[in-house]
Amino acid sequence: MPMPDTGEQELGSAMTDRSLDVAWIHGAPGEPAIQVHRYDDATVILRQSKRINYEAPFLFLLFGADRALLLDTGATEDPAAFPLRETVDGLVAQWLERHPREGYELVVAHTHGHGDHVAGDAQFAGRPHTTVVAREAEAVREFFGFGADWPTGTVRFELGGRELTLIGSPGHHAAAVTYYDPATGFLLTGDTVYPGRLYAFDFPAFVATLDRLVAFTAEHPVTHVLGCHIEMTRTPGRDYPIGAQYQPDEPAPQMTPAQLTAVRDAAASVADRRGVHRFDDFLVYNEPRKRDMLRLTARGLAHKTLARLRPAAAAGR
Ligand SMILES: [Zn+2]
Repeated sequence: MPMPDTGEQELGSAMTDRSLDVAWIHGAPGEPAIQVHRYDDATVILRQSKRINYEAPFLFLLFGADRALLLDTGATEDPAAFPLRETVDGLVAQWLERHPREGYELVVAHTHGHGDHVAGDAQFAGRPHTTVVAREAEAVREFFGFGADWPTGTVRFELGGRELTLIGSPGHHAAAVTYYDPATGFLLTGDTVYPGRLYAFDFPAFVATLDRLVAFTAEHPVTHVLGCHIEMTRTPGRDYPIGAQYQPDEPAPQMTPAQLTAVRDAAASVADRRGVHRFDDFLVYNEPRKRDMLRLTARGLAHKTLARLRPAAAAGR
C-alpha cells in the first residue's frame, strides 16, 4: 500500500510500498516497450520488452537530492521503438515536481559495457545537466575514481543523501561494476548474478568477484540481489532458449543473499572445468568453448523456427 504523502519526505522512504511482487512484462502481445515499476519515491526499476529485443534487460533509476543515476540504457538504440529518454525525462520531471530544485543532474552509467546495456546511450546525448559515462573499463574506473586497487577496492558515489558503494566486478565483462544502495538494500549485480546463464569469460576474476560480493553482503544489509536479465523458467535447472521472446514462466528477477552465496559456491565448485554447468536457479558458463556457444545458438535457432511454425507450442518451452 502506498503511504500517505507527509510533505517532508525523507528521500526514498515515502510513497512507497517497496514491493517486488510485480507482474513483469515478458513478451506478451501488445505489452509496452518499457515497463516502469516505482519501487519507492526515489527508486524506479524499468524493463525493456522482449518483443523489442530478447535480452529484455532491467534498468535502474535511483534519485538522490543532487543527482539521479540511470544504470544501463537497454538493448535498442532507436528511440521510436524504445523511448527510454522520453520515459526517463518523464520520471525525472515527476520526481522534480515532488522535490523541486534547480540544475538537477543525471548520470547515465552502466552495470557493464555489453551492447544490450548501452544501446540507448545516444538518446541522452545533449541532455542538459547530464553525464553519460563511456562503456569502456578505463572510462568507468576513471569516472568513479577506482584507484590502482581495482577491482578489490570499493568506491563511494554520492547522489545526495544517498551514497552508493561500488564494487569492481570483472569476470563477465572487464568494466562490470556492482552497485550497492543502502537506501533500498539493493545489490545491483548486472550480468554477474541473475537467474539465468552466467557467462564468465574470465573465470578466476569471476570467482574472485563473487567472493567479494558474498563478503560484502555479510557486512551490509542486502535485501535483494538484482541483476539485469531473466533466462530461467520456474522449472529448476531449465533455462529458456537464447533468443526467446516470450517467457510466461519466468521466475522473479530478484535473488536472495543466500542465492548469491549459492552462485559463488557453484562457481567455485566448477572452477577447474570449462564449459556449461547447470544448477537449479542459474547456469554457469565457465569460459565457454566454441562448442558450448554453438550448442546454445543451435537451440535458440531451433526454438525460433518452432516459434514461427507453431507459436503456441514454442510459447511454452
Ligand atoms: Zn546483458
